[in-house]
Amino acid sequence: MDIFWTLRGFFRVHWRSYCLAGSLLACVAVLGLLPPLIIGRVVDGIVAGSLDAEGLRWHALGIVGCACGIYVCRYFWRRTLYGASYLLSLELRRDIYRHLLQLSPAALAAFPAGDLMARATNDVQAVEMTAGEAVLSIFDGLMTGVLVLGMMAFALSGTLTLLALAPWPLMSRAMWSLGVALHARFDTSQAAFSTLNAVTQESVGGLRALRGLGAEAHTESVFAAASESANAASMRVALIDSRYDPIIYLTVGGSFLISVGAGAWLIDAGRLSLGQLTSFTLYLGQLVWPMFAFGWMANLVQRGKAAWARIREFLDTPSAVPDTGTLERVEDYRLQVRVTRFDYPGRTQPALRDVQFTLQPGHTLGIVGPTGAGKSTLLALLARFYDAPGVKVRLGRFDIRDYRLDALREAVGCVPQESVLFSASLRENLALARPDASEQDILRMMALAALERDVAGFAAGVDTEVGERGVTLSGGQRQRLCLARALLADCRLLLLDDSLSAVDAETEHAILAALETHTRHLSRVIVSHRLSAVQGADEILVLRDGAVSERGTHAELLAQGGWYAETWRYQQLAAAAESLA
Ligand code: ATP
Repeated sequence: MDIFWTLRGFFRVHWRSYCLAGSLLACVAVLGLLPPLIIGRVVDGIVAGSLDAEGLRWHALGIVGCACGIYVCRYFWRRTLYGASYLLSLELRRDIYRHLLQLSPAALAAFPAGDLMARATNDVQAVEMTAGEAVLSIFDGLMTGVLVLGMMAFALSGTLTLLALAPWPLMSRAMWSLGVALHARFDTSQAAFSTLNAVTQESVGGLRALRGLGAEAHTESVFAAASESANAASMRVALIDSRYDPIIYLTVGGSFLISVGAGAWLIDAGRLSLGQLTSFTLYLGQLVWPMFAFGWMANLVQRGKAAWARIREFLDTPSAVPDTGTLERVEDYRLQVRVTRFDYPGRTQPALRDVQFTLQPGHTLGIVGPTGAGKSTLLALLARFYDAPGVKVRLGRFDIRDYRLDALREAVGCVPQESVLFSASLRENLALARPDASEQDILRMMALAALERDVAGFAAGVDTEVGERGVTLSGGQRQRLCLARALLADCRLLLLDDSLSAVDAETEHAILAALETHTRHLSRVIVSHRLSAVQGADEILVLRDGAVSERGTHAELLAQGGWYAETWRYQQLAAAAESLA
């Protein structure tokens, strides 16, 4: 029951809806008490021969009136109560999404996308049912139960009521045991569903790669295993669920048996009339609902508790980059970086060590080096995707941790290695960070990213839909679209993580030259495997095994005769050979 205490904040905000629903439920319970009484009177009237046609008509009208009243009240309590519980799921999903947006990549790594989707859908729905149906069950069940029992005990026969309730303690004990078992099984079942979701999501996302590798059989067996385990876990929950109803029916059956036997004896002893026994058994029938309500409530509470724990696990995951800064704007773009050491968890070698540099506003820094050298990691630290004690990054006079995260994200634009596009039009993808961007700005950024010719070839131009994850575009088009999007966001510090790797060298050169000419106010950090992309940079760092092995301008590095000079010569030869071929 502590789940209700946990949700008290929500109940406090929506107390009006809950009170209104409670009042309507009370009306339903009171109206429901009248028909058995009326029927009992009719039976006694018939036995005594005192009931005429006019009296029967009035009694029948009374029953119809009660039914109409119950119908109207039921309609409105459902709207009010379920309406309130839907708001809870809305709020929870909003919280989950907000938390998702501000969680750092390091913290997010613990939650695969499919698992998060399961928490945001299935688990939220289970909590929503606790705030809706479980509240209804407890309130309505309790009220109906107390009123019906009151009528049975005080208006009809206290002795018969006590005897009829004899099987109840056994039922309560059985329900409690089922609740304990259900909680554990439901938790396992939700976790299994999360895994199934994660496997499905990864398979759908990587379908092309799986087909390309001929790995369909393997992935099918992985999916089948996840699916079977989710199925088995759901089955174990269903097995517990299926025991609730028989327990309730057995209890009700026992109560009826006792009532009829003991009732006959009481009639024989002259302590109860036939009409009263009829009313009693009708009331006993009305107790079936409160019993089901308690069983259902116990079931929903256990589901809600397990689901709530899973939602909280996500919401309570702290971001590895807490948003505790107070500065609202980056005024000075002089970038100073000093990384003494940066380690990824679970790795024995540092990803970066002893990296230092300063980048003046409007200047360009190139970062090159072999694969796995730490280039992307360095960019991630500049964008503050990670915090670590050995990392000091300053923008102007302040550490980047002193800025609010939204201010930092506004100032620093990052174009990652992998192009991330959404299932929307080119225009919507472009204007993601600036939905109010003018047509002129959109066209200008597309021109800078050398996208004009490509877009001219699309029938719907800039309003062409790009498909899921931009599947209808080529790799190079996707990359240039991401670049144009970052340019449109108008961040003053632009981080390009090998973001033109799928574009041919000539186009890359043209784009970088256009950026140099038209975006002089931007500071740029360019990571690239193609050295020609950083040739014009004010300084170039060569990273190897997480450390700076060479640094200087293009000319200085060539003169040093190290990795850079050797790679440059190799790439020039390769380009010449390609142009001859
Ligand atoms: P590439 O040129 O191939 O993109 P890179 O120079 O950008 O490589 P990084 O991606 O920065 O290299 O990786 C540097 C090292 O850190 C690698 O050894 C990599 O395996 C490791 N690494 C990167 N990301 C993570 C992560 N999220 N968790 C653990 N280790 C990581």
